[in-house]
Amino acid sequence: MPPTAMNNTHPVSHLRDRVRERRVEVYVGAVAIANLLVALAVVRVEVRIDHRDVNWWAFGVFAALLLLAETKQSFVLRFGEEGEITPGWAFAFALVLLGSPLLAMLCIATASVIADLLAHKRATKIIFNASQVSLSLGLGALVLAVAGLSGPALNRGSISFAQSLGMVAGGCTVLVTSALLLFLVMAIVRNVNVRVPIREGSMTSVSADGALLAVAPILVIAVNFSLLLLPMLAVTSFIVFTSARQAVRQAYAASHDPLTGLINRIGFDNNLTGRLVSLNESPVGDGSPVGLVVLLIDLDGFKEVNDRLGHATGDALLSAFAKHMERVIPANAVPARLGGDEFAILIDGTASIERETMLVHELRDRLSQTLNVNGFPLTIGMSIGVACAPLHASTPEELLSFADVAMYRAKRCRTGVEVYGCTGEAREHGRIGLLAALSDAVTNDQLSLAYQPQVNMTTGRCDTVEALIRWQHPTLGAIAPSEFIAIAEHTDLIGPITEFVLQRAVEDIVSLRDPDISVAVNISARNLQDRHFSDLVLATLARNHLPANRLELEITESALASDPECGRFLIDALRSQGVRIAIDDFGTGYSSFASLRDVEVDRIKIDRSFVSRVTTGVKDEVLVRSLIRLSAELGLQTVAEGIEDVAAWDMLSLLGCDVGQGYLLGRPMPFADLTVWLARQATTAEQQLATRGWSVEVDR
Ligand code: C2E
Ligand code: CA
Ligand code: CA
Repeated sequence: MPPTAMNNTHPVSHLRDRVRERRVEVYVGAVAIANLLVALAVVRVEVRIDHRDVNWWAFGVFAALLLLAETKQSFVLRFGEEGEITPGWAFAFALVLLGSPLLAMLCIATASVIADLLAHKRATKIIFNASQVSLSLGLGALVLAVAGLSGPALNRGSISFAQSLGMVAGGCTVLVTSALLLFLVMAIVRNVNVRVPIREGSMTSVSADGALLAVAPILVIAVNFSLLLLPMLAVTSFIVFTSARQAVRQAYAASHDPLTGLINRIGFDNNLTGRLVSLNESPVGDGSPVGLVVLLIDLDGFKEVNDRLGHATGDALLSAFAKHMERVIPANAVPARLGGDEFAILIDGTASIERETMLVHELRDRLSQTLNVNGFPLTIGMSIGVACAPLHASTPEELLSFADVAMYRAKRCRTGVEVYGCTGEAREHGRIGLLAALSDAVTNDQLSLAYQPQVNMTTGRCDTVEALIRWQHPTLGAIAPSEFIAIAEHTDLIGPITEFVLQRAVEDIVSLRDPDISVAVNISARNLQDRHFSDLVLATLARNHLPANRLELEITESALASDPECGRFLIDALRSQGVRIAIDDFGTGYSSFASLRDVEVDRIKIDRSFVSRVTTGVKDEVLVRSLIRLSAELGLQTVAEGIEDVAAWDMLSLLGCDVGQGYLLGRPMPFADLTVWLARQATTAEQQLATRGWSVEVDR
């Protein structure tokens, strides 16, 4: 059976989908009428046939085989949206050659209807499929009749060369008609030029159908000779069918993702290229600037799910998301999985860019629903980047890379959906582009430091200032460290960045001329693996004449856990020279206790997530209290990060925390503001402690 195109349709969400459905209905009606006309012509052939010569035994056997081939699921090879292939054609064409083209048409139409009813297909689809196969077969029979091959022609023992050519022509007619009818409906459903589905590899399935048609005459000749040859023929047909099926499967696998069944990057590129071609040929929506919309979707927090719940759950989540996506996207949209947790959707656009943006926002809401993953309810957020053709670009590469730029901005700004170029941004180029820009930033003076004070909770005086990096991009504006540090940490770029921070922080703290204040610098996992890092730190201190005990390095426990051997070696080397070490974000990793056991440190910084709830969550209070006691017993100091209100300050001071940091005491501020803050704080520390009237600084 030829591939069929109108498989499961999605809830119609656009008006234009309704217009398209209407067109499909008209087309299906036309095919059905054409089928009836062909059937009438075939009747005229049929009445002239001498039915006494027909081998009705063989006819019955092949009709039964046809029905079996169409309806038995193991014979039907489905390939996604595009269609399916069954060994049906071989038997249907054999019925024609056996001598009753009209009955053959009836049989294939009946088999098709039964198969579609069993598969619960929609009425339009059932009508189209039945008409398509019966029309193609009928036309083939008419060509055979013209070649003098009507009736049981193959019973006559021999056929002429001209007749054998007629047989080839008949087979080709069946093949070409069914393929054309199919490609046309695909083109209408997807609103593209008919050349697009032809180019898209559906040819593989056509050639498979061709191979099956070629078997038909052999079947008939052999069966006419003896029905006993049937088992042998069954083997031959089966081999032809399986190899045809294998070819179709291979063509399918190359462009599809095995986990979700969606098309993969190659399939998506093919689709995109095809759509762009037809967009250029016949601009949809009167040359609208948004003829085609590319959505790039990246799931938020997928890595967490994978790490915490295991890869099996991660995979189940991806498949569940893919299924859900297929359900909620517009009927003509093409979904794809580009790899990992990155998906894409191709949508025909005819509206304005504003309307398209609104539709994408709606789509994102529908996509973000809770999914049932192996019995767990899981809700997954996502960031979507949008780029349109021809407005933004007209090549597949550019469209995808611009959608990536927009997607990355959506992630960075946590807006969910971003359209390329909406904020007049310069041509940034996604994550890779950000990395390139960051490497420029290091040399072009775009990086600076903000300082956030850490206050001794007993004396109320500033004890340390934490250096926090700031990046002011000339066109993109301020970019948060949480965005670019994570990217830099995957590359060697983190080396020069840390070097910059260290150098600037040490210089600044020296220029304060206050021997009681230390500076804290954040260190990444990659720095710990750098053999020259301790030399760099010590050389920087020496060059600036800063005593080693006025430098604190903040290391997260996850950085320590990534390479405990290296970490311990480096930390020991630095501590032996007097440099202080603090464990940052304590309690958020999976190795808090291991890090305390494995390395000698001076301070632990209790993570903001515990501190922010210390006055409201009973468990948080117990945890913080225990952490403070634990570190006291280990001889370590505790720093509470993220103190935002007086109640938290009071509670932490009551629990015996040594040092506090947070917006209540001071936001990260430029160095110039820090000097002002310190001067004012020195005069009012005692008073502030007494009245607890901390002023909140403004982050600039
Ligand atoms: P962190 O080391 O945990 O830094 C503390 C972060 O919490 C800072 O964010 C700070 O602005 C914020 N914060 C401080 N007090 C409060 C508060 O009371 N409430 C709230 N809601 N937030 C508070 P920032 O500056 O955006 O830095 C984020 C992270 O980026 C840092 O987390 C650190 O992991 C990393 N980072 C920053 N600068 C550097 C650097 O120079 N090198 C490296 N390797 N990482 C850095
Ligand atoms: Ca820190
Ligand atoms: Ca921290």
